[in-house]
Formats: sequence, structure tokens, C-alpha cells
Amino acid sequence: MMTLLDGNATARKIREEIAQQVNERRAQGLAVPHLAAVRVGNNGASLTYVGAKVRACEEVGFKSTLVHLGDDTTEAQLLATIDTLNRDPDIDGYIVQLPLPPHINEHRVLLAIDPAKDVDGFHPENVGRMALNLPCFLPATPYGIIQLLERYHVPTEGKHCVIIGRSHIVGLPMTILMQRNGYPGNATVTLTHSKTVHLKEIVCQADIVIAALGRPGFVTADMVAEGATVVDVGITRIADPTKKSGFRIAGDVLFDEVAPRCAFITPVPGGVGPMTIVSLLANTLQAVLRK
Ligand code: NAP
Repeated sequence: MMTLLDGNATARKIREEIAQQVNERRAQGLAVPHLAAVRVGNNGASLTYVGAKVRACEEVGFKSTLVHLGDDTTEAQLLATIDTLNRDPDIDGYIVQLPLPPHINEHRVLLAIDPAKDVDGFHPENVGRMALNLPCFLPATPYGIIQLLERYHVPTEGKHCVIIGRSHIVGLPMTILMQRNGYPGNATVTLTHSKTVHLKEIVCQADIVIAALGRPGFVTADMVAEGATVVDVGITRIADPTKKSGFRIAGDVLFDEVAPRCAFITPVPGGVGPMTIVSLLANTLQAVLRK
């Protein structure tokens, strides 16, 4: 029987747990967590994502600050903003929404973030700590996937986990987390990408498939073994005039034909997406607790 890994319900549960901890802090006269988000320019997707993050903060009782800089912001100006956030004792964690305008060097910006406030987990220090299984901020999407697997008790030990996509924000960290000695983890991991040959044959051998390539409907039923667990990270907007928004969201997995074969599967939307935002909140709470 197939179990749906319900990201909406799980994220709601985690939000309630976080809100409860915030209330307890408030009752004890302690400061509530404060997350800041820096947005540069007017990229449409960034606007949506940052808006959703700020709303999520309000829901759990966090303080939030949105720093919006114009399209013509120089790298030096952005670095100065980051320096201010690093020094501000009232800010527990912050994110710099990517992508940045092309005239700004993303790597230099990420390096400037104080690793103790880097709740996106993108600073090389946090990536290194993750690889060494030391306390760190996990990047939000992988952290969300791990929490989803954990809350549904999805078996991972000894399983063959095939990851499609090697981005620094999803695929690569998932390989690190799935091979860790612990739960969820202890999987045997194969990382695949656009240069992989015999991809279909490899995915067919997977007990767990994590699809993070950004190609709608890429994973079809003939690629998935009976009883597999499938995590669909893909989010692609597809024009759809029947929708009020004018588009629908498609995942990397052809859900309708793959789901009947699965032990566990995430839907899109309502799977990994909501888990990502709640993981950012979890990181921000941890930033406060670690102080
Ligand atoms: P990305 O930077 O877009 O990179 C895509 C990866 O997939 C690359 O490693 C690429 O290989 C690989 N790839 C592309 N075509 C392939 C093919 N035909 N066969 C095998 N591998 C292929 O990845 P991303 O930023 O992780 O995003 C992936 C998807 O996840 C997107 O739809 C994105 O919107 C979504 N996403 C969702 C969330 C969420 O919260 N749910 C968060 C982040 C991203 P090469 O390296 O060889 O080019």
C-alpha cells in the first residue's frame, strides 16, 4: 500500500511545535527568534519565496525583517548590509535570497555571512560541518526532506538511494545526509546528473529515488522499482490557462503513474515545498538556542 508523504500536514505539525517553543520563551521573558531576509532587485520568484518566508515567521511568532535593496545595488553595498546584519545582536539568523543580479558575485556574498547566522546553511563552513557530521545549519530543502522521511519512519538503512541532480542546494547535500551513520541515513548512495550514462537502469535499482533535476515528469513508472520510496523535489511552473494564476506547478515525477508502484511518495505541490520553509524556521530557532 502506498503512503503519501504529506508535506503540508507535516510542516503544519512542525510549525505548531515551533510556535509552542516560541510561546514558552515569551512566557519566560526570553526574546523571540528574529529572522531577516535580504532581497536584491525585483526577481518575481524571489519575491514569492521571500514573501512566503516572512509570512511563515509571523505564523510561528518570530520577528522578521525584510531588507529590500534595489536592482542597482553594488556588491559593496550588499556586503555592507551583510556586515550590519552580522553585528546586529537582535538578528538571530538571516538569508540572502538567491539568485542575485549578475553584477554581484554570489560566492563572495555567501562567504561574508556569519556562519552562526547562516540559517540557509550555504556558507562553506556549514557545508563542511555537515560533511563531517558536526553541528551545523542544514540547507532548508535537504533538511525538509530528512524531516519528512523521519516523521514517516521511512526505512533508509541499507537501502540504495539514487539522487538525480547534483545542485549545491539539493542533490549534493542529500548524498551527504543519506549516507550518514544514523537515521535517516545509512543508505548506499548513488548521485546522478546530466552526464550519467544508463540513468534509467540505475534509477530502476533504487529503493529510494530523490528527483531534483527540474524536468517535469522526468521520472516515469518504468524507471521505478515496485515498493520504492520517491521524493520529488522538482518545482516547474507550466502555463495553464484554466488556473487563476495562469500556471500550475509540476514535479519531476509523473505522479499518477509512479505513485501506485511506491511504498512512499511525495506529491507536488504539497510535498517537499512546504517542508523547505518550515526547515528555515527550525534553523532560526536553533540559531537562538545555540547562542
Ligand atoms: P539545478 O541547479 O537546476 O540543477 C539541476 C541538476 O539536475 C543538475 O545537477 C543537472 O546535471 C541535473 N540534470 C538536468 N537534466 C538532467 C537529466 N536529463 N538527467 C540527469 N540529471 C539531469 O537544481 P536545483 O536547484 O536543485 O533544482 C532542481 C529542481 O528542484 C527545480 O525544479 C527546482 O525548482 C526545484 N527545487 C525545489 C525546492 C523545494 O523547496 N521543493 C528547492 C530547491 C529546488 P548537471 O549538473 O550535469 O548539469
